[in-house]
Amino acid sequence: MTTLELDISRIRSVKGSREAFHRETGEMDFWDADWQLAKQLAVDTEISHEGKFLNMKGHISTAVKGNCSRCLKQVTVPVECDFAEQLLYAKDVSLFSHLAVGEVEEKYFIYDNDTLDITDIIRESILAVLPQKVLCRDDCRGLCPKCGKNLNQGQCDCDLHEVDPRLAILAKLKETEEV
Ligand SMILES: [Zn+2]
Ligand SMILES: [Zn+2]
Repeated sequence: MTTLELDISRIRSVKGSREAFHRETGEMDFWDADWQLAKQLAVDTEISHEGKFLNMKGHISTAVKGNCSRCLKQVTVPVECDFAEQLLYAKDVSLFSHLAVGEVEEKYFIYDNDTLDITDIIRESILAVLPQKVLCRDDCRGLCPKCGKNLNQGQCDCDLHEVDPRLAILAKLKETEEV
């Protein structure tokens, strides 16, 4: 079992029961998102067996690092978030024949054996609370598009107002037209 797998055999066999799990890992692949774990990820979760479902709720505690989308400086973002999921056994999906397959998958997390891998649930819960674009600070001035200097550390000598001579001619023509 990897660190984010839970043995749910006991809870599955006893209706009305509940079980708590604590897991920690130092690894999480955020796929193509530009994030990496900055510290150990801890998950506390409780699963209860209610009727046809296993109801899972839990809390994730970690920190991730990414790069400022303007100046590329590394930024660490603390993550404390709750998650909840209803787990449905694969064979019971047929009980929901009135719903389209896609709808069932959207509503429930489908599992098919006594080992529940919660990696996807954890990854998605974290990505959901992270900003689309991270900034090192709200007023980050970014990098100079010409020389690449980090403008938070001071202005460079580039003249960013200089206009392409061909565009300057067009601007002049437009001016005369408008008169
Ligand atoms: Zn920045
Ligand atoms: Zn510059």
